[in-house]
Amino acid sequence: MAEKAELKPASIEANSPFDMRVHLGDDVPETDVRSALASGDMGFLHSFTTGSAVDGPGIRVVAWTTGCMWRCMYCHNPDTWTMRNGIPVSVTRAAEQLRKYRYGLKVMSGGLTISGGEPLMQDRFVAKLLAEAKGMGVHTSIETNGYYGERLTDAELGSIDLVMLGIKAWGDERHKHLTGREHGPTLDFARRLAALRRPVWIRFVLVPGLTDDPADLASIARFAAGLGNVERVEVLPFHQLGRYKWQKLGIPYKLQDQEAPTAEAADRAVAVFRAEGLTAY
Ligand code: SF4
Repeated sequence: MAEKAELKPASIEANSPFDMRVHLGDDVPETDVRSALASGDMGFLHSFTTGSAVDGPGIRVVAWTTGCMWRCMYCHNPDTWTMRNGIPVSVTRAAEQLRKYRYGLKVMSGGLTISGGEPLMQDRFVAKLLAEAKGMGVHTSIETNGYYGERLTDAELGSIDLVMLGIKAWGDERHKHLTGREHGPTLDFARRLAALRRPVWIRFVLVPGLTDDPADLASIARFAAGLGNVERVEVLPFHQLGRYKWQKLGIPYKLQDQEAPTAEAADRAVAVFRAEGLTAY
């Protein structure tokens, strides 16, 4: 209990998603969790952060949801895997939080990004919060692994200005090794977004020896280029900012001694995407 009290933050706002947050929703009864998930009237958030320049266009307010069905070996935020580690927040309170920033976000060509964890674990809450944002005239984005993309209707996807889709690896075997789950649903979601002509950015985490196979990179690049709706590919070099969370949570971390890619390796990966005609960074 002492540890819980110590870790419990006073505010829904965090300095960064790398702040460790656990046990904040432990007191919510299971029946309330289930009805919240069904209605979307309440969600679980790790935090809100403000001023991000790396989570979508312009300057973003980011709502970091808790709950994820994947177990990526390189996950930077394993405290977000468990939904109840997040703060229970009504959609009204979340919208109020956003409302404080709505004018500034417009001036800075930014908006709201809902990230995680995996936002679509809480698809009804996410849909309601995005609708609130649209009602304020705020640009909307979700950052998702796409696994539960079918939970959003075409109309809901139509009201998301940008989907940032994580493609983690190529091929079922490698994908399962890296994330614990199969690849197909993410690719199906990518194809559906393409058919709906919704704007997409693809995010790819580059980990030496794990996700940098040249043939796999070329396959991802070809797939992305063939979609026709990918506005940008972001190659994100692996880093160790989340390592301490694995240690504190007592979860075995296979990438304990994993190095970040060199700048040259990152440039080579970017070049593979550009060679397919994609805008990549
Ligand atoms: S999908 Fe994201 S939040 Fe989930 S395990 Fe992978 S990196 Fe972590």
